Amino acid sequence: MAAATLDKAAKPNGAMPRESLVPRFHEPGHAGLDEDTTAWWALDVSDARSAIAAIARGAEPHTMAAELLAAVRIVDIDLNTVHLVGPYGGRRQMIGKSITAYWPAESWPAIAELIVSAVADFPPGAARTREITSIAFDDARLSISADKNRPDLVFISIGGTVTDDRSLWAVRASEERYQKLIRHLPIALLQVDAREIGATYEKLKREGVSELGPYMDAHPKLIDAANAGVVVTEANDHAARLFGVENPSDLIGPVSFVFAASPQSARRVMAARFEGRRSLAETMKLQTFDGRLLDVEISVTYPRPPERLDVTLISIEDITDRLRTEAQLRELQADYTRAARISMLGELATSIAHEVNQPLSAIVTNAETSLRWLSRPDPNFAKVGQLTSRIAGSARQASEIVQRIRGMAVQHAPERERLDLNKIVDEALLFVRHEIESRAIELSIRLGEALPDICGDRVQLQQVIVNLLLNAVQALGHSDAARGTIDLHTAKDTEGMVTFAIHDGGPGISGNDLDHIFDSFFTTKDDGMGIGLAICQSIITAHGGAIAADNHPEGGALFRFSLPAASVD
Ligand code: ADP
Repeated sequence: MAAATLDKAAKPNGAMPRESLVPRFHEPGHAGLDEDTTAWWALDVSDARSAIAAIARGAEPHTMAAELLAAVRIVDIDLNTVHLVGPYGGRRQMIGKSITAYWPAESWPAIAELIVSAVADFPPGAARTREITSIAFDDARLSISADKNRPDLVFISIGGTVTDDRSLWAVRASEERYQKLIRHLPIALLQVDAREIGATYEKLKREGVSELGPYMDAHPKLIDAANAGVVVTEANDHAARLFGVENPSDLIGPVSFVFAASPQSARRVMAARFEGRRSLAETMKLQTFDGRLLDVEISVTYPRPPERLDVTLISIEDITDRLRTEAQLRELQADYTRAARISMLGELATSIAHEVNQPLSAIVTNAETSLRWLSRPDPNFAKVGQLTSRIAGSARQASEIVQRIRGMAVQHAPERERLDLNKIVDEALLFVRHEIESRAIELSIRLGEALPDICGDRVQLQQVIVNLLLNAVQALGHSDAARGTIDLHTAKDTEGMVTFAIHDGGPGISGNDLDHIFDSFFTTKDDGMGIGLAICQSIITAHGGAIAADNHPEGGALFRFSLPAASVD
């Protein structure tokens, strides 16, 4: 799919003009900038003609400046300019771009006025040199001139005292260290220059756009502009390996390849910058250049403030293996839960046999009585009819019980349906009723009225209640001072959660054990497995609820879980 549309060769790297349009005072290899320095820019104003004309006709330069400067493209700059304000990607990153990102917003109206004076000679005879706020000079003076032979070109020279030349070179040195560090970090890193789209966002905000999402829906071209205008300027070795290319430099160019398989993530990354967020983390699909589709976690760190060090960092971690392991673990846990259920059913074999036996004995008795009625000289068909429908009823009951046991034992993916917790309590009791009755345990059940439905998996929730009931039965059996009672209670709490509580008359849980009873394999029983409560907890948590254990003030253990009520729809 997306692999076919990715073409490394098609990534433009910003064409360089063949002839130099600005004077070159310094060539590569020079030691540093003079204290008094001049930097040169050659600018193409052809796309800014309508804004220039508007100002020449009397439009307020302050309101038009952003629009005018956004349309002015850099044709060439000298090395001083690159050293003073250039991006990490160097000169070629600047060519063809708008100049707004390189000048503080407060200087835009003055630059706009100078451009209008040079191109449209408005106001007539206006000065072509002005003091200006610059990010690189303390006392910047900007001069502008036009070229008669090439009416779309203007030249800017900007001179003054460099803000802090030494710090500039110190910064370069630290930048080199930083580059080295990035290069060898064991995580895929991309350094991205998004200044142009940043300037576009500032313009949109000034025009009153407050939310990017709806604006992108109405102007899909903005996404194309971001895909083309936001460029990777630096990539490390790890990123090259992740994307399946030979050299990190193969990744330099428009950022669109990162989001080829996850366009929605691209939108969220754009929106987060628009909202001025500091960072964003996303899990998404990533298409590599050698045709792999990976699950990755990407973290984007946005620059602040936007004017100066406008570097966005994207780190990408391949989590394909981790996700696969997690899926395997989930499967394993499901097997484990099922194994626990089957072992629980094993423990309940007597109870279950008893439950099935009841309707079976009723069937036998009723069938024998029927036969007797039939073998009389005057068979009573009405009586036989009555008994036969009782037989059918008992058979149905037996088959329902078998059905439920099968439901517990059979592997099935967790379901989510609306459920009545009181019904689930009833169904769970089916499995333990005999156990309770045969030990003469006094069971008191208070079911809350008009409980809201909950949402979840019937069999899993039955399993939780059966586990808690079995523990309670066992606690009574182990206690010398046991009162043979189990209280069950369902209710709705003040926060609207549906709750289940079970209190037994056993010995309770010792203080030390209270912190561990939900741990896997924690047991105080000779024949215990110690997984019942761990499974109860994982089931309740997966249902968005919580389970807790405590000792009841009147003695015995108290287990309580709560589940969120199902939403109305
Ligand atoms: P098992 O029943 O196999 O030990 P569980 O995870 O169900 O595994 O229970 C863990 C431990 O929690 C038990 O061994 C017991 O010490 C304690 N426990 C559970 N329910 C009760 C209860 N109703 N009364 C006292 N202790 C309990």
